[in-house]
Amino acid sequence: MSSHFSPEQLDVMSFARARAHLDSRLTRDVDGASLARLFNRLSDEACEPQGLNSVSWHAQAELRPGASGELQPWLSLEVECSVRLVCQRCLTPADISVSAQRWFRFVADEATAAAEDDESDEDVLALEPRFNLIELVEDELLMAIPLVPMHDVCPDVVPTSAGEEEFQAVLESRPSAFAALAQLKKPT
Ligand SMILES: [Zn+2]
Repeated sequence: MSSHFSPEQLDVMSFARARAHLDSRLTRDVDGASLARLFNRLSDEACEPQGLNSVSWHAQAELRPGASGELQPWLSLEVECSVRLVCQRCLTPADISVSAQRWFRFVADEATAAAEDDESDEDVLALEPRFNLIELVEDELLMAIPLVPMHDVCPDVVPTSAGEEEFQAVLESRPSAFAALAQLKKPT
């Protein structure tokens, strides 16, 4: 179904009333410029320029009766991305995939949202006339990124109980910040 709803200025109430949905998939190779523009905070998390590989999301909404019978918009959001981060085990770049799914319920104002958010399983947000869904997608992905990213299987064998000589050999085989520092300190 083609949709006239704009994800950057979404009328959540109309979107829910129409039981509409929106989908997007952006990849670096095809939509690099849009990806960097729409998700610049996520791009900043990457360990190298253009390190955000892809972002996909799917949103759909519906109206459900609230506690006092009034209809409230509920929105389900599924997000997924691939971003290049430094693996904390081998310290080389790793393409990390993350995904998340969450329900959001929209209420009349910030005060109600704050009051009801704590006691609800879903996230409660204040209804805005032009809601930025892209920002919400990015927020969810930023929260889903692991604090300690790691390869499933690191490309090199990392010495864990190796002798001093082997460890030194691994260090020397790889340009590191320490090596760069040592170069700087050399008398010219
Ligand atoms: Zn690794």
